[in-house]
Amino acid sequence: MTDPARCWVPGADRADGDFPIENLPWGVAVRPDRPGEPRVVCAIGDHALDLAEAAGFGMLEGLPPRVVAALRMPTLNAFMALGAADWSAARAHVRALLTDGPPSIERHARRDAVLLDRASLAMHVPAAIGDYTDFYASEHHATNVGSMFRPNQPLMPNWKHLPVGYHGRASSIVASGTPVRRPHGQTVSSDDGPPSFGPSKLLDHELEMGVFFGGAGNAMGERIPVASARGHLFGCVIVNDWSARDIQKWEYQPLGPFNAKNFCTSVSPWVVTLEALRPFCVPGPARREGDPAVLDYLRCDGDFVVDVKLEVLLASAAMREKGMAPTRISLGTFADMYWTMSQMLAHHTSTGCNMRPGDLLASGTISGPTKESRGCMLERTWRGTEPIMLGDGTERRFLQDGDELVIRGWCEGHGARRIGFGECRGVVLPAR
Ligand code: MN
Repeated sequence: MTDPARCWVPGADRADGDFPIENLPWGVAVRPDRPGEPRVVCAIGDHALDLAEAAGFGMLEGLPPRVVAALRMPTLNAFMALGAADWSAARAHVRALLTDGPPSIERHARRDAVLLDRASLAMHVPAAIGDYTDFYASEHHATNVGSMFRPNQPLMPNWKHLPVGYHGRASSIVASGTPVRRPHGQTVSSDDGPPSFGPSKLLDHELEMGVFFGGAGNAMGERIPVASARGHLFGCVIVNDWSARDIQKWEYQPLGPFNAKNFCTSVSPWVVTLEALRPFCVPGPARREGDPAVLDYLRCDGDFVVDVKLEVLLASAAMREKGMAPTRISLGTFADMYWTMSQMLAHHTSTGCNMRPGDLLASGTISGPTKESRGCMLERTWRGTEPIMLGDGTERRFLQDGDELVIRGWCEGHGARRIGFGECRGVVLPAR
């Protein structure tokens, strides 16, 4: 169960902590005494190791120079570009710094200059995201949404043959804690219009996981086979794909979502590596009797899904003022997906579309079989017909101004130590 090496960082072994020595997620942060200088950091307990500073003190000696150079950059892109062997070497080195035995920095004179209070850091989006793609890979989500809008044919004929997705907007991806502004847009009161322009009335969240593409990018025209896709999965973050359902409803045909989803997407700041997630990778995805066989280019022996537990919490402004705990509105798992991350990447590149390190692929809303495991308000309140009761006695059909949404993710069980993702948080600001 427990790691044989002792981690000396105080509090890192707390049983309910997200960041024990078994996790070691990467992030990018600005520390209070070095304003304007984002740097690569690694979370450990309530602390974070500053890799740029550690490199400056010679603490990264023994790692290949290309790895040290990548860890001194202001984003994770260069590190993500290196590949699995270098990611693993860096992780092992950091682990050694934080545990007993050389090259532990427990008694290093500059220890306190590199090991920072995590709460003091301003966390950034961990990579400069060149391209962002959002999929639609949960069967329960696609079936629920489909049955609201197309009761006769909830799943389109293509759905079980390919991971449906759309190209998202990278420029409006923000780190957890950034508020989301209620967007304006065209909406209609009847299906055929006419439209009016104004603030969205049906603002929603979408509970998702994202994976950062890593390793050398494929040249344009070259495919990434599903069997080698795993080596390009650097690590995962929580994603909240804020969505304006009334704008979406009017605009989405025939080309899919556009303005309904381009105003803000939030990500959790700590990238939990596939190496840390390995104990929680389980065979998958589940296919039901009668489901069509997937085409060869999407078939992968030993493919996997990841059992990340995910919860969504909601607190109104009034609840936060009174110090009330947020209300849990959803609990599910990322293992409940029909399409895997490897299949998404293989399908994305099946045309020869070139991927670059730092590109983000999100899963689409993660919903499970039960009402409690539905990952957005649209499904959770069934288009607003079954409102949720919050802890302050008010009802929610969609998000209101002042609401704060918090998504948390963690892995437990499977004979391994619990690890977590931290949280992805955002407050809804009124339209302007
Ligand atoms: Mn989405």
